[in-house]
Amino acid sequence: MKIMIDAGHGPNTAGKRSPDGSLREFQFTSAVAEYLEEELNNYQGVQTSFSHDASRRIDVPLIERTNRANAWKADLFISIHANAYTGRWHTGGGIETYVYTTRPKEALELANKVQNELIKATGLRNRGVKSADFHVLRESNMTAILTECGFYDNKEELALLKKDSYRRKCADAICKGIVDMYNLKRKQMVKSANTSTPSKTGEYKVQKTIGGYITAADAKAKRNKKTNVTKGSYYVYKRASGMINVTKKKGVPGSWINPADNKQQSTTKTFKVRVKSYELWYYNKPDWNAKKDTFKRGQEFTVVETLTVNGSKMYKLSNGNYITANPQYVQKL
Ligand SMILES: [Zn+2]
Repeated sequence: MKIMIDAGHGPNTAGKRSPDGSLREFQFTSAVAEYLEEELNNYQGVQTSFSHDASRRIDVPLIERTNRANAWKADLFISIHANAYTGRWHTGGGIETYVYTTRPKEALELANKVQNELIKATGLRNRGVKSADFHVLRESNMTAILTECGFYDNKEELALLKKDSYRRKCADAICKGIVDMYNLKRKQMVKSANTSTPSKTGEYKVQKTIGGYITAADAKAKRNKKTNVTKGSYYVYKRASGMINVTKKKGVPGSWINPADNKQQSTTKTFKVRVKSYELWYYNKPDWNAKKDTFKRGQEFTVVETLTVNGSKMYKLSNGNYITANPQYVQKL
């Protein structure tokens, strides 16, 4: 099942922020999107992708978002938003979930499940499932829902929207709704990691000092590094999205690391490249079919290896992803 996760708006979208300017809607939606990705990747047969800019730098137009989902042939489109009424402080609030005006049966059922989980998890007012002629609901070819997870022009809900624990709660609730609807099964590996006997999860050796992150999504993107994880032996607390949470205290969460960081110094010399084309596909393994998302023109990466895949050259990047080595699209720096 391919799930396109859509964090509403972008870092520069006009309006779309709290009346006091302290929160942009995208700060909330992009964080929930990453937690949702992390959570969904614990389930068998699930592939996720972002329709927004994963590097949080660019506003992706709506048409591009639905084009991406349609081209990728996503099965689900999950759009995450927070709400605003007039843009001035008010006391109205709560959560609502939208489907397209034709109220497609599957979308409606999913929306009801997600809405109920969100209300259960947050305790906010239930504004119900509604229908609207929103672009992402209309132009996406697959089952699509849009959630409005509270109002940022309501002072109490704004405080919640800023909280990491609330963002996580929303992501978990949306995930639960999807899991229930499609009867998704947790991956075996994670099942054992979550039991109260962490002895099953094993040990992990860190070869050199590497970055430690708060979320698996951050570790994967090598962004928001929070600490250093020094050389030594660790317990594995949890695994998600290919990332590992390592800890010195068995059963107690530690830091997320990117196992790619832990590889011994490669003998090949690394170099930097810059994306030349407007958008460039990247792949999560050395396979031209393993499209994950796109990078944007001007983004720079470190190449750690050059491989030949089906006769065409591919770069392996230090962030664990792969891109084409075609100089038409990528410039060696
Ligand atoms: Zn919005």
